[in-house]
Amino acid sequence: MTRIASHRGGTLEFGDSAPAGFAATAQMPLEEVEFDVHPTRDGEIIVHHDATLDRTTDRTGAIAELPAAEVLSALINYGQGGHPLTLAQLCEVFEGSAVAFRCEIKPGADGRPYPDFVPRVVATLSEKGRLETTVFSSFLLDSLTEIAAACDRPRLWLVSPPVLMQLGAEGVIEIARSRGIPEVSVHIDQADAVLMAQAQAAGLDFGCWAAHSAAQVCRALDLGVKVFTTDRPSLAIALRTRHLRREDVQ
Ligand code: FE
Repeated sequence: MTRIASHRGGTLEFGDSAPAGFAATAQMPLEEVEFDVHPTRDGEIIVHHDATLDRTTDRTGAIAELPAAEVLSALINYGQGGHPLTLAQLCEVFEGSAVAFRCEIKPGADGRPYPDFVPRVVATLSEKGRLETTVFSSFLLDSLTEIAAACDRPRLWLVSPPVLMQLGAEGVIEIARSRGIPEVSVHIDQADAVLMAQAQAAGLDFGCWAAHSAAQVCRALDLGVKVFTTDRPSLAIALRTRHLRREDVQ
């Protein structure tokens, strides 16, 4: 069965990386919650998509240049009055939930990996008893290398549309294999049966990201990808239920 990952706690249903979305996701009949992490100036780990607060909250500034207290008091736009969570707080929201973590390692506002950040993320997840049910993702190959050095949890490479266009399927597969990356994930609009078959023939797992519309979710389900991320987890669950019923009938 194709796995569903609630992207940033279901951005289009609950706001971007909002506590209400994570709390709702923890109770949903889906397999994964996707989220992104950034360090604060004083060493806290924050769950937020953007490297800055500008687009998604009532504050401005780069998370890595602000103290945690300031980041945690930002109000998330359309987030039901919620503030950003720390990674430790997110672990507490999911205590007792069967939903697994899909943790994306983001770069800073300058596009570069945060120095010495990955081992701290791994340590926090480990302290909270969450590491064994976490998979990691990143667009950055260097971050994927850092993850492999810090733990033996599964990693997947988020392949951006320009990277896939420039390298082609063969180039992406070659890089993934040479770096020991076992899974690739492409934008849903670039996914098709040929690309999926190529990746799988090379021994790679294949998934998609950004399946937000009904048509995109159905495309992921029809292809039978391993997993897809979606900003509309409730919609994805309903469509998957319908899809599975139809398969039963056939
Ligand atoms: Fe992400």
